[in-house]
Amino acid sequence: MKILVTGGAGYIGSVTVEKLIEAGYDVVVFDNLYQGHRDAVHPQAEFVLGDLARIDEIKAAFETHKPDAVMHFAAYSLVGESVENPFKYMGENVSNAANLLSAMLEAGINKFILSSTANLFDDPESMPITEKERIVPGSPYGESKAIIERYLYWLDRVKDFRYVALRYFNAAGASEERGEDHHPECHLIPLVLQVAQGKREKIFIFGDDYDTPDGTCIRDYIHIADLAQAHILALEKLLNGGESCRYNLGNGQGYSVKQVIETAREITGHPIPAEVTPRRAGDPAVLIAGSETIRKELGWNPQYPDLKSIIQSAWNWHVKNPNGYEK
Ligand code: UDP
Repeated sequence: MKILVTGGAGYIGSVTVEKLIEAGYDVVVFDNLYQGHRDAVHPQAEFVLGDLARIDEIKAAFETHKPDAVMHFAAYSLVGESVENPFKYMGENVSNAANLLSAMLEAGINKFILSSTANLFDDPESMPITEKERIVPGSPYGESKAIIERYLYWLDRVKDFRYVALRYFNAAGASEERGEDHHPECHLIPLVLQVAQGKREKIFIFGDDYDTPDGTCIRDYIHIADLAQAHILALEKLLNGGESCRYNLGNGQGYSVKQVIETAREITGHPIPAEVTPRRAGDPAVLIAGSETIRKELGWNPQYPDLKSIIQSAWNWHVKNPNGYEK
């Protein structure tokens, strides 16, 4: 069984490719390497340097490799940037996905896994956030995923097309070989670890006046290997003839920014100086996923639900690769 993975050179895509190969799948990675790293691609995966903006390149990859299903990770994914430049998100993210989907239909490929987001749920009515929550995107980034989910809804209704949309919360951690290496980096855990590595003087805490026990924001951190496992379960569901669906993915447990910093101090033995600064625009106080549906329906069972093992795995990778994928 062959799976084409867009964005398979990126953080979440590359770890999912690794787990797909371990599970016995043949994998083709389709990536333009704007943000991804060639060295992050598992050596057993075939690699196509291609751009989703060019539908001819997608069609050529389908023609050559004849995948049975597609996993779609390749996208711009910075909430802040999407506010600055909505067209890059509601434009390019959406049109690239539309190219991919249209090339799939033409090639007769009808199984699709979407990397979606918790940013669909701004100001949720209940916490933890379940799949029943109304969709109110928190940014043009979230909106781009909401629009792609609407495409999927209609393709399921009007074509013989099946999909699973996985809305993830805060992906974190690393496998033995693959970890997080963004330029610029703006996520909490890698930034905290950069302080421990001596690459930054301190970590800025974006606000300690939220309505939470210690005043800092609470997020649901999910280990990248558990996330990858969920993708494989979703794929198997479709390969076994399952219906289209959407799942929220997190541990169902939240940790505050201060708890993340404190845990990183314990693991690294570094004091990790922190300074409180004003809130970052668009940050909700608490985001926690209700992942009961995927647990019940697909038997998903996270192996690394605790913050300590998530941060420990990230730290191990950063110690082993102090410059990320850069040689
Ligand atoms: N955060 C912070 N300092 C930083 C980066 C992030 O205090 O340098 C906070 C951010 O406000 C949020 C949490 O850490 O409450 C997680 O942020 P991240 O960017 O990692 O993920 P997000 O929740 O935005 O997807």
